[in-house]
Amino acid sequence: MTLKIKGLEVGIEDRKIIDGFSLTVKKGEVHVLMGRNGSGKSTLALALMGHPKYRILKGTVFLDGKSIIKLSTDKRSSMGLFLAFQNPTEVPGVSLSNFLRTSYNSASKRKVSVFEFQSLLKARMKEMGINEEFMKRGVNEGFSGGERKLSELLQLSILKPKVAILDEIDSGLDMDSLKVASKIINAMKKETGILIITHYKRVLEHIKPDFVHILDGGRIVKSGDVRIVGQLEKKGYRWFSEDGDRHAKA
Ligand code: ADP
Ligand code: MG
Repeated sequence: MTLKIKGLEVGIEDRKIIDGFSLTVKKGEVHVLMGRNGSGKSTLALALMGHPKYRILKGTVFLDGKSIIKLSTDKRSSMGLFLAFQNPTEVPGVSLSNFLRTSYNSASKRKVSVFEFQSLLKARMKEMGINEEFMKRGVNEGFSGGERKLSELLQLSILKPKVAILDEIDSGLDMDSLKVASKIINAMKKETGILIITHYKRVLEHIKPDFVHILDGGRIVKSGDVRIVGQLEKKGYRWFSEDGDRHAKA
């Protein structure tokens, strides 16, 4: 259960956004990726998931030793890769419960019945404090920003992927929802490799990351433990990019 990214380059149209990105995420590890706005965090996440707009120009991505670069998004997700989107979109007309059951059945070997799945979902929603009404509504239809994030987390906790990439999962969450989010993430830590993209320290008070990485110029310019975040708050991203420049010149 390892995601191994090496020398990755990703382009959008004719711009190269990710340029020499390498990272290995193993089961049981929590990695945090930080970086200024527009540094390419979401681009990385979407390219890993196989979004057609984000073209992989160079490098390798292996999930459990198997190259996934040429595989469809569906295939990647059935292999256990999961992305919680920064901006989850609406899928009107498809109820959340149907959507989740379809994903669940395609990801797991055992098919569950509608009835069985409903009770699984109900129990999980109750734990998360999500209103049952959500099940009947279209996916993310009329959901607030925070509710969309919770629905992504609900997917995460139902699908139990091998590797989960959570793009700004904490943005727009109130204190109570943040606690719910942290609880879900902490509960799946042992069985999953987790990559959290965030701007905020507060989520890291609930989820203790093993590694923190700073993205700048399309690659990781600094890695360390959670203490990096403290330095970041004091000095800002400038400090890291100057540091990165020094490394590049050295
Ligand atoms: P981050 O998530 O770190 O804030 P993004 O990955 O969203 O950054 O964006 C990186 C750069 O790529 C930005 O300059 C952004 O404008 C550009 N970009 C991202 N997605 C698209 C897209 N679909 N079309 C055109 N440009 C994009
Ligand atoms: Mg982003």
